[in-house]
Amino acid sequence: MDDRKFRTAMGKFATGVTVIATEVEGDVLGMTANAFMSVSLNPKLVVVSIGKNAKILNKIKESKIFTVNILAADQQELSMIFAGQLKEHKKVTFDRLDGKPVLAGALAQIACEVSAEHVEGDHTLFIGKVTDIHLEDVEPLLFYSGKYRSLTEEKLVTL
Ligand code: FAD
Repeated sequence: MDDRKFRTAMGKFATGVTVIATEVEGDVLGMTANAFMSVSLNPKLVVVSIGKNAKILNKIKESKIFTVNILAADQQELSMIFAGQLKEHKKVTFDRLDGKPVLAGALAQIACEVSAEHVEGDHTLFIGKVTDIHLEDVEPLLFYSGKYRSLTEEKLVTL
């Protein structure tokens, strides 16, 4: 099976979009990721999957903390910034949640401490123990088949 077929198939799984952020000695680094899921309710655990060439990989190993910022529909530009898809460098300021860097306006900010890491193929899975959450009541940014999308209004049919 070729890589393109695998990537195309994985892209058929519609997801939200997150920015994973961490901080080492005052320097905050972010990376766009959609390989995120909830793992356990008790204890509260999540997982993110980070590619072996991503700069944030060693930073999370060092800091042992990360945040997951689930992006809102109006935050496509942030996704593009942290995926390296914009040519010009844009300064992004971070808020704090439980002392960890988070993005204002995200529909969920999830602060984590690394509880385990597993190297699998060319990615590392970081299991995060959730230490705090902040929520906003806004619509999500979506990603499907290589394109950004948004939810459409649910149509209520009255008979
Ligand atoms: P870097 O140069 O470290 O960072 C990428 C960009 O973020 C750079 O342009 C940098 O300037 C900017 N940036 C970082 N920190 C800051 C800051 N503090 N302020 C301002 N700008 C900053 N890869 C995965 O490994 N796992 C995934 O689950 C995943 N999902 C993805 C989902 C989507 C929708 C997209 C578009 C990409 C996804 N990627 C994923 C790919 C990943 O986002 C890119 O490969 C990654 O950004 C490249 O990382 P880097 O270490 O090479 O770049």
